Amino acid sequence: MPPRFIPVAHPVFAGNEKEYVNQCLDTLWIASGEFIQRFEDAFAAFCGVPHALTCNNGTSALHLALMAHGLDPGDEVIVPTLSYISAANAVRYCGACPVFVDSEPRTMTIDPAGIEDRITPRTKGIIAVHLYGHPADMDRIKEMAARRGLFLIEDGAEAHGARYRGRMVGSLADACTFSFFGNKIISTGEGGMVTTADPDLYAKMRILRGQGMDPKRRYWFTTLGYNYRMSNIQAALGLAQLEQIDLHLARRREVADWYARHLPADLVEPACEEPWASHAFWLYTVLVRREAGIARDDLAAALLREGIETRPVFFPMHVLPLYREAAGAHPVAEDLAERGLSLPTHGHLTEDDLAYIAGRIREICSATRAAAAG
Ligand SMILES: *Cc1c(COP(=O)(O)O)cnc(C)c1O
Repeated sequence: MPPRFIPVAHPVFAGNEKEYVNQCLDTLWIASGEFIQRFEDAFAAFCGVPHALTCNNGTSALHLALMAHGLDPGDEVIVPTLSYISAANAVRYCGACPVFVDSEPRTMTIDPAGIEDRITPRTKGIIAVHLYGHPADMDRIKEMAARRGLFLIEDGAEAHGARYRGRMVGSLADACTFSFFGNKIISTGEGGMVTTADPDLYAKMRILRGQGMDPKRRYWFTTLGYNYRMSNIQAALGLAQLEQIDLHLARRREVADWYARHLPADLVEPACEEPWASHAFWLYTVLVRREAGIARDDLAAALLREGIETRPVFFPMHVLPLYREAAGAHPVAEDLAERGLSLPTHGHLTEDDLAYIAGRIREICSATRAAAAG
C-alpha cells in the first residue's frame, strides 16, 4: 500500500453548500427554484457582465453559444487543437467543421499567430480556450476576429476567476462558457454557464436551453431547442461555491507558488504565468524536460505507485481518429501533449503533500538516470 493517495483534483466545500442544498430538499424545490437566478446573478456580477445563463454542463454551454451565433452546415470554426474535446464536438453538433490551430508554447493556449492562415471564406468564428486556467492572448485574437468579421467565444471551463490584462475571463468576447464539473475550480457536480454582454444572444440561448419554447406563450415551441437546464440543487451548490471563490483561487495560487519554488527546475519546466495574465491554476501543469531522462508516461506511472495521481496533457484533437489531420501539422501542441503533466492542484493539499510530490519527482528521475547509466 502506498503511504497516501493524493488525487489530482478535489472539490472544497467550506461554506454554505450543505445549508443551501438542504434548503432545496426542505422546500421541495429540487428542479426549478430561486437558487438558479441567484447563482446566475452572482456569476454575472463576478464576471462583470450583464447576463449569465446556467445550463447542465460546459459542453452544452458551448453548444448553446455556438447555436446562438447561427452556424450552418459547412461553416468553419477555429479551435485550438490542444484542449478538451468539447469545443470541437460542439462545433460538430451544429453541423459545422472545427479547424485546428497550434498552441503557443509558454501558455499552451491557442497561438494567435496561427489563426490568420486558417481563416477561409467559410470561417464564422473562433473559440479561444483558457487552458488549465491561463488566459489566451485575447486582444490579438479579438482584433483579428473583428477585422475578419468573426464571432469570438471564450471557453473558460478551466479558468473561473482568471484575468487578462486585469479584465475578467467571462467578459472578454461575445460569450464565454464555463463548466462546473466535479474537478473544476468551483463545482456543482455537473453544470455549466454562459456569460455574455449581448442581450440578443442571451435571449436566444435561453430559448434554446428550454426546448425552444416561446418565452411569451407556454408550450408553444418555435425552434428546435434542447433540455440543457441546471437544477436548483446544482445551483444551490454553485452559489455556495461562488461565495467563496476568492478563497478557492487563493488556495490554488498558494499551491502553484509552492510548486514554482520547490519543484526541481532541471527536471520539469514550471507552469508559466505571463505578466499580462492572472492564472486561475485549475491544474498546475509542468513539462517534463528531455534532460530528466524519463518519459512523461513513465514518470506518471511511477508517481501513481507512490500514491500521487497526475494527468497527462490532452491529446491534440488533430491526432484523434474523429478529427485526424497530418502528424506534425501542429508541432507545438504535439510536444506539449507528449511532455505535459498536470500535478495535483486543489485546496486540500498541505505543504507536506507538496513536499512529498516534489521529493518523489526528484527521486524517481534520479533512480531512472542511475539505472540508465548502468
Ligand atoms: C471541462 C471542460 C469542458 C466541458 O465541460 P463539461 O462540463 O465536462 O461538459 C469544456 N472545455 C474545457 C476546456 C474543459 O476543461
